Amino acid sequence: MLLKPVIGITAAHCSEELKTFPRHYYVESIRNAGGIPLILPPVRTSEEASEVLHLIHGLLLTGGGDISPVYLREDPRHGIGQCFPERDLSELLLTQLALQHDLPILGICRGIQVLAVAAGGEIYQDIPSQYPRGMQHRQTAPRQYAWHDVDVLEGSLLYRLLAEGKIGVNSLHHQAVSVSPQGFIQNARSSDGMIEGIEKPDAKFCLGVQWHPESMMETEVHSKVLFRGFVEACR
Ligand code: MN
Repeated sequence: MLLKPVIGITAAHCSEELKTFPRHYYVESIRNAGGIPLILPPVRTSEEASEVLHLIHGLLLTGGGDISPVYLREDPRHGIGQCFPERDLSELLLTQLALQHDLPILGICRGIQVLAVAAGGEIYQDIPSQYPRGMQHRQTAPRQYAWHDVDVLEGSLLYRLLAEGKIGVNSLHHQAVSVSPQGFIQNARSSDGMIEGIEKPDAKFCLGVQWHPESMMETEVHSKVLFRGFVEACR
């Protein structure tokens, strides 16, 4: 019998309210794609990260607040949003180790930014001030609806999964990847030139998207395909 792969899901941690939580969409999306969703605790050291990674077959980096400028090795800019350094440290440690061990990774929204930073790339702290020619990437429609198109790079893993060169995606971000890490390709862009997806071609499955497919499961077929592809790669 083929066992279901266990997918570690990173979460927001709020010690004041004693809560650790990812949005339920992520948990349901992994379950529906055939994986066992496992919500991960925050880790503080590489040793802890390594122990946690031994429990899972794939790592899902979820959406959330901004990455602290401290972890970008930059001064804070005007427009930076709420930061939770405990979560930043945890996700960066997990991602760096997962990259080293070629554990499948899917990064969503904040997750693509975590993936980029962990692998040595750079991000915009705030799109409106740092990329003024960008479109409005913070949608005013509910999150399950598409907001702008992205062009998908032919031949990329993303393209092979979607089997489409252009899809409509939602957009709920004011940060984005500005410089993709070495060894990665940009697999999706919006018409304003914004990087909306990256992947590492020599990895088993290492993909980040700037949109939220987990919130579009009911409305867009391409969201299901992405999650299924990820969970399959974790077997
Ligand atoms: Mn966008």
